[in-house]
Amino acid sequence: MIKSIFLFFIPFLLFCSPLKIIDLKENNGAVSIIFNKNIQSSYFKKHKISTGIYYDIKAEYTLKKYTFRLKNENFITIAQNNKTTTRIVIQSKKINTLNFEIKKNILLLSFNVKNSNVSKQNNSEISNLFNSITENNNNSNIIQKNKTQNIKQAARKDAEQKNTTRIVVLDPGHGGKDCGANSNKICEKTITLSIGKITKKILESRGYKVFITRDSDKYISLTDRTKFANDKNADVFVSIHANSLPKSSKNYHTTSGIETYFLSTARSERARKVAELENKDDIEVMNYFSKLSFLNSINSQRLLASNKLAIDVQYGMLVNTRKLYSKTIDGGVREGPFWVLVGALMPSILVEVGYMSNDSDLDKLQKKNYQEKLAIGIADGIDNYFLKNF
Ligand SMILES: [Zn+2]
Repeated sequence: MIKSIFLFFIPFLLFCSPLKIIDLKENNGAVSIIFNKNIQSSYFKKHKISTGIYYDIKAEYTLKKYTFRLKNENFITIAQNNKTTTRIVIQSKKINTLNFEIKKNILLLSFNVKNSNVSKQNNSEISNLFNSITENNNNSNIIQKNKTQNIKQAARKDAEQKNTTRIVVLDPGHGGKDCGANSNKICEKTITLSIGKITKKILESRGYKVFITRDSDKYISLTDRTKFANDKNADVFVSIHANSLPKSSKNYHTTSGIETYFLSTARSERARKVAELENKDDIEVMNYFSKLSFLNSINSQRLLASNKLAIDVQYGMLVNTRKLYSKTIDGGVREGPFWVLVGALMPSILVEVGYMSNDSDLDKLQKKNYQEKLAIGIADGIDNYFLKNF
């Protein structure tokens, strides 16, 4: 049940979202750098180096340092240079063949490839152009064109080895005096605990270090849950819940499905409406302090990572549960100001594994084999998140 853990949404944050790079693509030798909003050429500060040029832009880049190795040994490398600046380094012996083109929120970089005859570039120089934030991931990020399969295999192997040092905190919602949502005398807290414990076992078998905020029926405050995750130095935090609609809702019995939420200022109109509706009863509990802690916990890099984690986990849960029930409804990835995610210092999500107000969902949620599918889905999502982003 999410009603009690929503926070009031703060509209003025919407007007100052910082510029950030949200994706990179390469197609036929043209590299697209995709921003969250429209850009202009004046944003890019150009500098010359012996092997080409680089551009600095006041924008955030949360992915790993990435090098595109293009035809004729042209190289384009993107990395966060410091907290506020992203650096795009273009190495080419024929730098005057570079096309620098802006289309709304996309920077398109390509080369006129005729008669380019260049020798091998020295990668040590490029390393020196980035500071210590990104220097430690040089080798694994030299990506060659058209070798996607090899990259995936290498990344998977790499990821398996890295799992042993990755820390996951699972948080079965509610507990003790707090039943959570209840339907037919069944408490949400019982279902979330069971799924949490199974997920822990699965993740441990895949090499993760896993902590769980509770492994029995005890009450833990929302702030203590995130504090636990911070104290454990978790890489990701997953809070597990089951949803329910108010009894007065005309969709009480019919709404079903799986949803995943991540903490944000609820920017989309749909999310804002959901948040407003869900927050209705809790506006009174908002005070200056909680507003402040909410503001402090919004960090755009973590927000982007949480969004990615949410997408992967939602997908994992759907794929796996549909093996048992092909018609499982995809409630989607949503953003919202959740109290339980406020203050977490790592990518954090909240999963709603189904609707207890829906008879069919409630029935499934009590079955061990369905709980297992959800748990495998959460674990697969976490796997994929690390595979793609690290
Ligand atoms: Zn809940």
